[in-house]
Amino acid sequence: MGGKGLLIVISGPSGAGKGTVCQEFLKRHPETLLSISMTTRQPRKGEIDGVNYFFRDIKTFEGLIEEGGFLEYAKVYGNYYGTPRGFVNQNLLSGKDVILEIDIQGALQVKDKFDEGIFIFIVPPTMDELRRRIEGRGSETPEELLRRFKSSYSELQFITRYDYLVINDSVEDAATKIESIITAEKCRVDRNMDFYAKLKGGIDNDLSIFR
Ligand code: 5GP
Repeated sequence: MGGKGLLIVISGPSGAGKGTVCQEFLKRHPETLLSISMTTRQPRKGEIDGVNYFFRDIKTFEGLIEEGGFLEYAKVYGNYYGTPRGFVNQNLLSGKDVILEIDIQGALQVKDKFDEGIFIFIVPPTMDELRRRIEGRGSETPEELLRRFKSSYSELQFITRYDYLVINDSVEDAATKIESIITAEKCRVDRNMDFYAKLKGGIDNDLSIFR
């Protein structure tokens, strides 16, 4: 796997603040790329096609599913969301780190296919805070808010499928924790076998340094 970038999957229940934490991380690490998802949901005010999402109709989305164009996809609150495969593959191969900010169903699909990814689960510090954050968006009806809250609550059970837990009590601290996780992952022996071979090979080829 030498020379390959890291695939960092940031996921967690709706309202945990994944998006904000990712943006803070990306501000500090502009060399890391964020995969832009495709969705069939309508753009919210201020959202731009090709920046926040690729906004497409259901027919286009389903066509891409047929072609195997998604690394993962899921239906979240009645709309399709998916990670286009090409962008992620190309950038990982060229050694860049790529972040996916996706829901839990999608993260579990990626885990099945790509176990060497880093799977980070972001949670709010309390359920009260989660409720406040879901309500704070102010973009959904009361029924929709309740549905999101219930679904977020039940999604907490998937925590054990992840490698790391980041409590989002402050966006800055959560982003710092993600930096630490990535630093530690880059030091893992199994990610550094190419370096090890080179280091060892250097000595094998010139034992005269001991004389
Ligand atoms: P929103 O509509 O609020 O932008 O996103 C709703 C949910 O969909 C969030 O939990 C978000 O992380 C998730 N999501 C965004 N893009 C993708 C994707 O490409 N795949 C999956 N599985 N979920 C996504």
